[in-house]
Amino acid sequence: RLSLNAVSKSFGDKTVVDALSLTIEPGQFVALLGPSGCGKSTILRMLAGFETVSAGDIQHGDQCLSSTKFHLPTEERNFGMVFQSYALWPHMTVMENVGYPLKIQKVDRQNYQRRVQDALDIVQLNDFKDRLPSQLSGGQRQRVALARSLVTEPDVILFDEPLANLDRHLRESMEITFREFHRRTGATMVYVTHDQAEAMALADQIAVLKDGQLMQWSTPEDLYTRPNNEWVANFIGQGS
Ligand code: ATP
Ligand code: MG
Repeated sequence: RLSLNAVSKSFGDKTVVDALSLTIEPGQFVALLGPSGCGKSTILRMLAGFETVSAGDIQHGDQCLSSTKFHLPTEERNFGMVFQSYALWPHMTVMENVGYPLKIQKVDRQNYQRRVQDALDIVQLNDFKDRLPSQLSGGQRQRVALARSLVTEPDVILFDEPLANLDRHLRESMEITFREFHRRTGATMVYVTHDQAEAMALADQIAVLKDGQLMQWSTPEDLYTRPNNEWVANFIGQGS
């Protein structure tokens, strides 16, 4: 399990994440939901190891990832990551883009072939494996980024508003891809979004955040039927 224990983050004298505690079970699909500026990306960046913590600690199983005294580098966390600007290498084919993290890890040829194949199967891009990114649609490129995030077989995959650039129709079809992707990989997923409907549709468990503080941590059903306070009720009720 992945746990944040009273994690805070300050930039100068501004606290953007305030004593946040969350425990994420293996295989859970968790959404971090809240308005712009509430600290979602900062939390994800601390999980990824791009940012240190100002207070508290982050644990993964029995391993400490971050505390005020210790910081495990990003490369040693083996987390998959998909960000909003899912930069693909323009000069590499789909297959080469997906396999790139394995090249860096110096995975042998046989394993390389198998894992790239599996990853392409999961996102159903086998027919496109020899194309360049410029020859793909936005949704197809997003699926390449997904395949690339899981090719190293991570236990945890972090997503920062991965669908924000896509139109509504494509977003809906990608939500189905995400659920299928979660089912097939069994990975723990931490998914940042400011879109209530997206969080509700995707996640098993939702963390609602406001000004760096946890407002509610519950299932989508409970969030809808039993909001903790008026702010949560209003935020959830707004729709997208
Ligand atoms: P959005 O939905 O707009 O992406 P967010 O919830 O992801 O918002 P963050 O990016 O985590 O928000 O930012 C939270 C706050 O921290 C913001 O006020 C932001 O300006 C501030 N912040 C983030 N990174 C830094 C930094 N490196 N230095 C100073 N302030 C920062
Ligand atoms: Mg953000």
